[in-house]
Amino acid sequence: MEYETLDPEDWTQTQKLAHALVDSAIDYTSNVRDRPVWREMPSDIRDRFLSDAPQTATPLIDILHDVENTVMAYPMGNTHPRFWAWYMGTSNFTGALADFIAAVQGSNLGGGNHAAALMDQQVVRWLRQMVGMPEGASGTLVSGGSVANLVGLTIARNSKAGIDIRAEGLMAMPAPLRFYGSDQMHSCHQQAMETLGLGNRALSRIRSGDDLTMNLNELKAAVANDRMNGIVPACVIATAGTVNTGAIDNLAAIADFCHEQDIWFHVDGCIGALVAIAPENRWRVEGIDRADSIALDPHKWLHAPFEVGCALIRSRDAHLSTFSLTPEYLKVAKRGLAAAQWLHDFGIQTSRGFRALKVWMSLREHGVEKFGRLIDQDIAKGAYLSRLVEGADGLHLMFPTNMNIVCFRYDPGGLDEAELKSLNTEIMLRLQENGIAVLSDTTVHGQHCLRAAINNHRTANQDLVLVVREVQNTAAIILNETAGR
Ligand SMILES: *Cc1c(COP(=O)(O)O)cnc(C)c1O
Repeated sequence: MEYETLDPEDWTQTQKLAHALVDSAIDYTSNVRDRPVWREMPSDIRDRFLSDAPQTATPLIDILHDVENTVMAYPMGNTHPRFWAWYMGTSNFTGALADFIAAVQGSNLGGGNHAAALMDQQVVRWLRQMVGMPEGASGTLVSGGSVANLVGLTIARNSKAGIDIRAEGLMAMPAPLRFYGSDQMHSCHQQAMETLGLGNRALSRIRSGDDLTMNLNELKAAVANDRMNGIVPACVIATAGTVNTGAIDNLAAIADFCHEQDIWFHVDGCIGALVAIAPENRWRVEGIDRADSIALDPHKWLHAPFEVGCALIRSRDAHLSTFSLTPEYLKVAKRGLAAAQWLHDFGIQTSRGFRALKVWMSLREHGVEKFGRLIDQDIAKGAYLSRLVEGADGLHLMFPTNMNIVCFRYDPGGLDEAELKSLNTEIMLRLQENGIAVLSDTTVHGQHCLRAAINNHRTANQDLVLVVREVQNTAAIILNETAGR
């Protein structure tokens, strides 16, 4: 060899290894139910991740062996049928194949005249159609919901700043801006406000009512009050599916109000935007198509492998005028590879990965209708678990279940809030450590609860029956231990 390359010396050998890898990946996925949801890593495994950068070569076969034993054996667990913590997706095998083949092509989707770049825009168009945003609206695939929200809020800020904020900067704004969301909104909005230089205090938390949605009278009062004080109401962030309880703000009413007040209407639809494709539940997100911008997350309810999020923007002009920037070395050409709109004009990344393929392939394989049915099915599972909780001794449903997020706790009676919190936290931790089920917890309106977010195409009703029984059994064991002390 006159030069060095990263290509293998022996492709036949690599082919054998790759075939074996695919076989083990299929075993891994098809047998997921037989493994613990999660387990703690032994210290010798942890220590493996502390070693220094390797200066010399290791045979690929040894590396694959290490990955199997140290990485694949200790997953987060969100592909397991009994994982219901926070708000994840469950992934899917076709999406995994897509990530592989996307990496094989290895294209950069910063832009250019090639198929992957066209597919990226096609997937944005499909997602736009799925939520009912009009033809001509714009959008971009990003890493996830947090960045999709940041993209939306940045365009809102630039549109309402009253000056050319890209040129002049925040200091030149004639009046301070205010953004509004409910006290249930996701923490990424605070981060976005901080990143945008507007500051956390420019984000007003409107109290949620008993149903955990934004109280519109309080929103209206806050907007009127700000106007009186010379603050410009710039953007309302409505949430379609809160993390805590899955509550959906009244999108149609907020759309009316924003229209009347000339305020940017942003929807954080990371959980619920795609309910728009679910025949039995799409009524819940009526009005979402009137948003100026929407953040949604194909790695949640479309179960794409992480990461892929999407920002949709009603006005293509507003979108491009916020991000478009074309240096000499990225000019659009009349012919050849550079004869296309650069996709970095729609966000803050220059180089972009081929995350479209995993969404595109699974949407084609199953069709939008099936994904809609799966969303309905998860919401039905949420109702089923709620009924089980209501019928189970010691268990209490803490809030009426709106969609697929069930908030409950074990309450044997006679314990105060702090004792209930410590009992339920211990139940949650033991279920995780025993590998039985992964739940998370939260505090809503001052009450601590366990939380099952069923965004999982592998969950069977039997899994829900099992977790209810295991919560009861674990509670009995803990209470017994405490009584024995
Ligand atoms: C998950 C989520 C986010 C953040 O999305 P990521 O994909 O995790 O970055 C934002 N808002 C809501 C309501 C979410 O559920």
